[in-house]
Amino acid sequence: MQCPKCFGDMDTVNQDGENELRIDRCQECHGLYFDQLTQSDLVLVEGKTALDSGDDDVGAEYDDMVYVDCPKCDRIMDQRKIEEPVAIRFEHCPTCYATFLDAGEFRQYLSEAYRVEFQALLPE
Ligand SMILES: [Zn+2]
Ligand SMILES: [Zn+2]
Repeated sequence: MQCPKCFGDMDTVNQDGENELRIDRCQECHGLYFDQLTQSDLVLVEGKTALDSGDDDVGAEYDDMVYVDCPKCDRIMDQRKIEEPVAIRFEHCPTCYATFLDAGEFRQYLSEAYRVEFQALLPE
């Protein structure tokens, strides 16, 4: 699978399986692609923030890149975002429910200040 932002190759870093959720990470920008991440699935990945090994500054650059195509469906991904009380912005595929987070965002959005707001932006 190719990264929707920088078109680098993505490696599967968390496999499908019972009580698991597939996560792919880009070799270049280290963005993370989550397969069908829903509000109730968030608990499955909240202990996995070490997978978000990329550089925050690189992630911040790619955060400005919007309207990318889902690598699985080839359809344009929606943006889910809020400004208040915290700023959150990420890509979500309305067709397959995949979520793409730029490097550093997974760590940030699962921190105490962001978690509730991030979860509310995910599909139910
Ligand atoms: Zn990438
Ligand atoms: Zn998709």
